[in-house]
Amino acid sequence: MYLSLRGVTKRFDKVVAVDNVDLDLAEGEFVCFLGPSGCGKTTLLRLVAGLETLDAGEILLEEKDLSALPARKRNFGVVFQSYSLFPNMNVARNIAYGLECRKWARDRIVARVEEMLEVVHLGDAVEKYPHELSGGMQQRVALARALAPEPAVLLLDEPLSELDAKVRESLRGEIRDLQQRLGITTIMVTHDQDEAMEMADRIVVMNRGRIEQIGTAEQLYWEPETRFVGEFIGRLNILDDPALRQGLSAEAPVLGIRPEHVSVGTDGAFEGTVRKLAFLGNTLRLSVETGEQTVEIELHGRREALKVGDRIRFSLPPDRVRQLAASPA
Ligand code: ATP
Repeated sequence: MYLSLRGVTKRFDKVVAVDNVDLDLAEGEFVCFLGPSGCGKTTLLRLVAGLETLDAGEILLEEKDLSALPARKRNFGVVFQSYSLFPNMNVARNIAYGLECRKWARDRIVARVEEMLEVVHLGDAVEKYPHELSGGMQQRVALARALAPEPAVLLLDEPLSELDAKVRESLRGEIRDLQQRLGITTIMVTHDQDEAMEMADRIVVMNRGRIEQIGTAEQLYWEPETRFVGEFIGRLNILDDPALRQGLSAEAPVLGIRPEHVSVGTDGAFEGTVRKLAFLGNTLRLSVETGEQTVEIELHGRREALKVGDRIRFSLPPDRVRQLAASPA
């Protein structure tokens, strides 16, 4: 394995921010740490970067233990949420700075800065200062600066979260393309599931300092192992009403079904009342009250003459109902 985390643990006073995390990354892989606020994803990234010290565990790069090395000796490139460029240096100097610190030869620095400007499509901005650039451009400079010293690993801490939606979307594709072109092993922290699903080879879903599940976007969506993952990635009905659970695996701790897997039709086993309707173009989202709970249903590409108050019949195809573990509270 290229990068391995073994039993990585970090406490702040009584809070266990990262709790015994094991993770292996292959060379060239793009992994996202995804989870709600406070789940420990930023702390885990900072531990990998060397910006926090471990309480227990080790971090290995090609079998070498980095745990005791300070950040500047790890040769990892880091991009933070806010642009953090040097305000008094132009774009070229921002990119060159890390290379000067590493005592690269002058002509090698000049060539590398030029190369990086091309990679992030910023050739025209070489003389500009950070305050003259848009947020998206500043993050591209930050990326170029992080990548210039040929880091072993690229670490991205919510790099897109301060940008507006349009720029964010185009930069997602740009960063992913760049990462694949350079083949650089990358970890990105995000709380945005779409961002993680679009960009990552694998997603590490975190909850309360622990890894809930690791998988591709498809695996996490189709085969969530825990209630937490099922609810965090996409939408999920948890079947609480005993009537709805009838005939399904009674001993499973949690049963869940995605809204689009609930089947609507006159031969449905259950009946309910439409309480809410949201027309979203391709999707019609219904909240249907039945017995002791409300079931969310999504119909795709169907034109239905439904209105609030209508009674409809639906069924829960057993092969679409997922058994899930309860997550630690
Ligand atoms: P967010 O998306 O809000 O940044 P996160 O998933 O990145 O959340 P962390 O920032 O890693 O979560 O925080 C994990 C836990 O550790 C939280 O309970 C947080 O309050 C705590 N924590 C993080 N950094 C510190 C610190 N420097 N001192 C004390 N507690 C901290």
